[in-house]
Amino acid sequence: MNDLTRLLHAGPDRDPHTGASSVPIYQVSTFHQPDPEHLGPYDYARSDNPTRAALEQTVAQLENGARGLAFSSGMAATSSALLLFQTGDHLVVGRDIYGGTYRVLTSLFKRWGLDVTFADSADPDAVRRAIRPNTRGLFVETPANPLLHVTDLRAMAALAREHNLLALTDNTFMTPYLQRPLDLGFDVVVHSATKFLGGHSDLIAGVAATRDAELGRRLKAIQNSLGAILGPQDAWLTLRGLKTLAVRLEAQQRAALEIARWLSARPEVRHVYYPGLPSHPGAATHASQARGPGAVLSFELPDGPSAVALMKRVRLPLVAVSLGGVESILSYPATMSHAAMPRPERLARGITDGLVRLSVGLEDPQDLIADLHQALATPGAAL
Ligand SMILES: *Cc1c(COP(=O)(O)O)cnc(C)c1O
Repeated sequence: MNDLTRLLHAGPDRDPHTGASSVPIYQVSTFHQPDPEHLGPYDYARSDNPTRAALEQTVAQLENGARGLAFSSGMAATSSALLLFQTGDHLVVGRDIYGGTYRVLTSLFKRWGLDVTFADSADPDAVRRAIRPNTRGLFVETPANPLLHVTDLRAMAALAREHNLLALTDNTFMTPYLQRPLDLGFDVVVHSATKFLGGHSDLIAGVAATRDAELGRRLKAIQNSLGAILGPQDAWLTLRGLKTLAVRLEAQQRAALEIARWLSARPEVRHVYYPGLPSHPGAATHASQARGPGAVLSFELPDGPSAVALMKRVRLPLVAVSLGGVESILSYPATMSHAAMPRPERLARGITDGLVRLSVGLEDPQDLIADLHQALATPGAAL
């Protein structure tokens, strides 16, 4: 099946009992057992729920994995995947990992005895140097937030194979429509389905997929034990969102490229970070492993007051955390995603006070450009 078709028909695409055009929302906690000595496929909804199972099957199909799992949030998916490791294990983690992943690793998992070294995953030698005798895993994200640094997934998978590491990646920015890490040799892929998979800024959800069935069985046991499961309503909304993933992403990344080019030519804009621009240092690597550049870009204005002024003047995008919705969202890394990072550290990583991140939605790109234009060009502005 072609990807467009897979999005509609890869998973359970109708109700087997009635023929209804979508899998029903099974709003239940338990299931009657006609034979109490031999329980049926569903017994208690923490373990399995048919609506969640439909989403999990769909995710496995889309990521080309043996098993898919749906969690209460992206962080629940990531934290559950990290529980595949044990106290005393060491992980090498990409320096530009999602802030919540950084926090859970450096607070909870550190206390629990998981040892972590952060390395620049755009540089395979830096990752190799960070590997120790007790290293058991590698966790990267590409393109990474907010500067869209690109990591070579094939090189990381090769390193993981060579050193017998479990390779994990957060594929939120790309989705399985644009990038399939399991096909490139990764073992586990996690997502915040809150973003592009759900796609409508109306739910919090997470998903994971594993390359092999045994790893899937272990992750399923963690999910069932912890109970960090996705409820049936939100599983249904995620399934509904997935049906339009391809058309949304195609339109959103086309618009993102148009806006990135326009921003690049603006005198107020110091730099545009977007893997779809040939000037991006990771553009070639990205093109070799993904179908497109995605719909998130960042750009740098001269200073903090210019960035704040822009965000106060725009009319179309939401000014908010999050990304991947049908509406454009402008974020301010300095006070939002990277607020917890000490300022000198943040500046050293190139996340300046003038940096703004834009998740491009489904508005007409010309309307977005006109809005950005008025917001940048207001007379008497700090810009
Ligand atoms: C939002 C996000 C997460 C966390 O997901 P939640 O659904 O908010 O828990 C993880 N990784 C990335 C890249 C994200 O953007």
